[in-house]
Amino acid sequence: MSDPPGWTWRDTRAVLGTFAVIATATALARAGAAVESTGAVRILSATWPSHGLTLAILLVVPRRRVPAHAVAAFAAIALTVLVLGTSWRVLLIGQPISALIVLLTAAFLRRDPEWIDGDSESVRSWLRFLGGGVLLPTASAAFPQALVRYYEPGGGTDWSLVWPTAGAVFATNALAYVLFVPVVLRLRPTVFRARVPAGRRGELAALVAAVALLATASMLQDNPLPLFLLAIPPVVAAVRHGTPGVTLSVVVLATVLLGTTQAGHGPFVALSGGDPAIGLLWAQFTSFVLMAAGLTVVALLDTGGVPVRTGHDLERLRSDGGAGFACVIGADGHIEDVAPPGSRPDVLRRSWRDFVDPHDADMVEQRLSAARAGGAGVTYSGWVRGRDGTWRWIEARIRRGPAAAGARPVVVVGSDVTDDRLRGLERLRARNRELDTAAATDPLTGLANRRRLDEAQETAWRTAAADGGPVSIVVVDIDHFKPYNDHYGHARGDEALRAVAVALRDALPPSDGLAARFGGEEFVVLLPGAAAGGARSVAERIAVRVRSLRMPHRRSPAGQVSVSIGVATGWPGPGCTDPHRVFGAADAALYRAKESGRGRIESAPDVS
Ligand code: GH3
Ligand code: MG
Ligand code: MG
Repeated sequence: MSDPPGWTWRDTRAVLGTFAVIATATALARAGAAVESTGAVRILSATWPSHGLTLAILLVVPRRRVPAHAVAAFAAIALTVLVLGTSWRVLLIGQPISALIVLLTAAFLRRDPEWIDGDSESVRSWLRFLGGGVLLPTASAAFPQALVRYYEPGGGTDWSLVWPTAGAVFATNALAYVLFVPVVLRLRPTVFRARVPAGRRGELAALVAAVALLATASMLQDNPLPLFLLAIPPVVAAVRHGTPGVTLSVVVLATVLLGTTQAGHGPFVALSGGDPAIGLLWAQFTSFVLMAAGLTVVALLDTGGVPVRTGHDLERLRSDGGAGFACVIGADGHIEDVAPPGSRPDVLRRSWRDFVDPHDADMVEQRLSAARAGGAGVTYSGWVRGRDGTWRWIEARIRRGPAAAGARPVVVVGSDVTDDRLRGLERLRARNRELDTAAATDPLTGLANRRRLDEAQETAWRTAAADGGPVSIVVVDIDHFKPYNDHYGHARGDEALRAVAVALRDALPPSDGLAARFGGEEFVVLLPGAAAGGARSVAERIAVRVRSLRMPHRRSPAGQVSVSIGVATGWPGPGCTDPHRVFGAADAALYRAKESGRGRIESAPDVS
């Protein structure tokens, strides 16, 4: 029940399917309510399917699709009863009440996703379903439904009609809820396949056939005693095939009971003095009790473990789930079976402790116990030693195994996701590198920003102090840049900044040196290890390169864009501990260059 992000054609088809199913079921049930109709249609009318089926659908669709399916289902019901003729009061008051109750019930039951997905068959879940999911909602919907039919504004309400109608509405609705929800939840292909192994489907089919035969035989005569025999096949189905077995056999049984009773045959009609309406109530009651009891018995018998009894079951469980491996771990912690079968020789009868990271052993122990006790949603992800001895990262689900003679085993189904994980880590590192670069780069020019310059300067200073070497600083400022902006516009100004930045970068010595935009139209080149002469030649290269850009500048006496440059060199040592002094010296030199006519280079005396 993962939540799909976007609406697709499949969603549209599913919603249309809901509309069609609910409209059809409602129409058939309405038709069956007419006395003269016969057969399957009658059986549906004995289990008013519209709301029970809607509830079932709202439980299995993805959460975000619930509103769409609810609208489709309730629209289908309303349109169908409208077409087939109903009172406006039933349509406008009765239906919205029922719809609200179905929605509330769906919200309540959806809080137990493990039960919906068939991962848990706990007694608590099934009793919750029977009480809060069947009896409470159908009982609360029945009375309003009956009242809107017979309430006469102004006139008297005929209570002798309201109460029996409420009873009948309750019976048909409750039966529909108790039949359709398990049918949809437990006979879904995914759940059915996981719970009834291929090898035992023939046996289940035989049981269901026996149910149909026995039931038909008992219903073609009037003696109620053979009815008691009917409980046997569902009990066998419960023990052998869990909830899918109970659901399938009781649905078949209920179909025969309701159909024959509606047709006026069998012990229920005989017991009711020949009144099929009362007989039907008995048949409904019996069907309800059989399903409710069957489901509770299965939960109590606790056959809810993953049904793996053979290596074949296990391999199937693994491949159906698209997992890399599956194994059964006995109550004593030994691996009893593993799939794919090829890995058996290396693994069988060894303890799980031989494989997991010792740091995780306690956690794994707890998880295994939790799963063994029937806990739902137990998972493990961590390091496990692979068959070749290397550590692999696995992600696995841990569930309780089938009931066994001794203590219960657990079934672990998982996959090696080491490669995905490593790829994920690599992506994470790359992303962080990108972030680091972005945080240290000036967005306009792509040069280092001031933050990065400060860091580099600290490092350079420390290294120089240790080696006794120099650090040089070159400060570059574009001349008459304010008038340039004023004359050519800000966009051209930005272009000029980028061009000067390229010139700066190209003028750097290939190994060392960092060019940064210090702010505005001022740049700084840091030259670790460079003495005054080397720094001066870098400054000259910069000036030459800027000049060779030949960018026209009408508002500058030079006629083209030029830069003024200040150069200073510091020798970190006991007498010179403050990098800002070198910076200050370079700035002062720059000032002198500006003062003496711009477009030139000034060097400061060494700072030491
Ligand atoms: P001087 O020759 O004395 O350096 O004069 P100047 O006009 O270059 O100096 P001043 O500090 O007066 O003006 C700097 C101008 O740089 C002001 C501002 O419009 C411009 N400037 C600062 N940052 C940017 C920027 O990111 N893009 C553009 N286009 N212009 C900028
Ligand atoms: Mg300037
Ligand atoms: Mg400036």
